[in-house]
Amino acid sequence: MTTSCDIAVVGAGPVGGTLALALAARGRKVLLVDKADLKPMENPDFDGRAYAIAQGSQSLLQEAGIWERLPFAPCPIKDIDVTDGKPGRAPSPLKLHFDHKAVGDDPFGWIIEARSVRVALNAALAQSNVIVRAPAEAVVSRNPEGAVLQIGDERFAAKLVVAAEGRQSPLRNQAGISVTRLPYKQTAVIFAIAHELPHNNVALEHFLPGGPLAALPLTGTAAHPNLSAIVFTESDANAKLLYEMDDASLARHLRARLGNRLGGFSLVGRRWLYPLYAMYAARYYDTRLALAGDAAHGVHPIAGQGLNLGLRDAASLLELAGAAEDPGAEAMLRAYQAQQRPINMAMLLGMDALDRLFSTNFPPVRLARDLGLAAVERLPRLKQHFMLAAMGR
Ligand SMILES: Cc1cc2nc3c(=O)[nH]c(=O)nc-3n(C[C@H](O)[C@H](O)[C@H](O)COP(=O)(O)OP(=O)(O)OC[C@H]3O[C@@H](n4cnc5c(N)ncnc54)[C@H](O)[C@@H]3O)c2cc1C
Repeated sequence: MTTSCDIAVVGAGPVGGTLALALAARGRKVLLVDKADLKPMENPDFDGRAYAIAQGSQSLLQEAGIWERLPFAPCPIKDIDVTDGKPGRAPSPLKLHFDHKAVGDDPFGWIIEARSVRVALNAALAQSNVIVRAPAEAVVSRNPEGAVLQIGDERFAAKLVVAAEGRQSPLRNQAGISVTRLPYKQTAVIFAIAHELPHNNVALEHFLPGGPLAALPLTGTAAHPNLSAIVFTESDANAKLLYEMDDASLARHLRARLGNRLGGFSLVGRRWLYPLYAMYAARYYDTRLALAGDAAHGVHPIAGQGLNLGLRDAASLLELAGAAEDPGAEAMLRAYQAQQRPINMAMLLGMDALDRLFSTNFPPVRLARDLGLAAVERLPRLKQHFMLAAMGR
């Protein structure tokens, strides 16, 4: 027996899970498949990974029923400081300061913990009409009329398959869609700190020759009222050394770059190593197949836009396929690619340029950079433009 559905989403990560829920909320019959078991992904321990969520992404998380189920309150980002530095020194006094009040009352976005998203996704899926198969592997065959997904003894037919399987995406490979990878030779060490002084909802992007350092404000807990997520980017070799250091040594290296803005601090939870490369797929679609999220693109995490881009893919698919008579028609897939690929490529190139600009210690470039920061600081209209872009408007 074959079960018919409108759309099959393969990959129940934050992008695939959100898309499946939002499509189901609009009355679509959706199958969601993941090769991993979803429940064990709910790691109850503090995990240090955090996503920056812009306003556009927040609306989608609300529509999908995820936002109200987040077990830990999202932390609003009210101000952003962009600073430039030299190795081993605290941020220079030349900085760009973005205050959300310059563009309205809303925050720039929110920082939410990765574990919080997983818990909310699972809770929303449990109360939805989405047909979930996990852990499960789907064998997918596609032709111009539709797709068939064989999962063990079960057979599903769908008009559209969305590949949201992350960077390695087997469905993308099966469709022969090539990817270009731009290695940064940088790795991010990701962890959280409990600190003495409040962060006042300010996100810090501190650019250093080895790679950017971000301190992202998190909502505090009873045990740790002042918490921040740290994304510490360094050359691959240095990042590995940092990752393997004892807490006191890692804290010393962090303090040398962060200065005293958060007062004394201690490390909380575990550490993650995240090798960085930008990546883009040559096409976003094939017969009855659309790529979304990390399966389609990967950007430098300099501005925390990776998941935002994936959620924007999901929002675009929701608008195009949410009510379409044939959600996998070629015209719809072409429109999806035309809408998303240029935006994502622009973001990828922008993040890449920023990284290259700031990852050098060459004195003339450093001088131009400092002058650039100072110039933007004095141009309110340009600052406003950057702020609206950061908010996803
Ligand atoms: C260690 C680490 C730290 C990170 N830190 C940050 C951070 O601090 N901030 C930030 O913004 N981003 C961070 N990221 C990136 C962020 O996690 C991704 O951008 C985001 O998860 C992309 O979501 P996605 O749903 O597209 O893919 P993924 O989250 O990769 O989800 C893919 C899903 O597909 C499933 N899957 C894979 N293959 C198959 C298959 N064949 N069949 C079925 N299912 C399959 C996987 O089990 C998984 O559930 C980090 C990533 C890692 C690995």
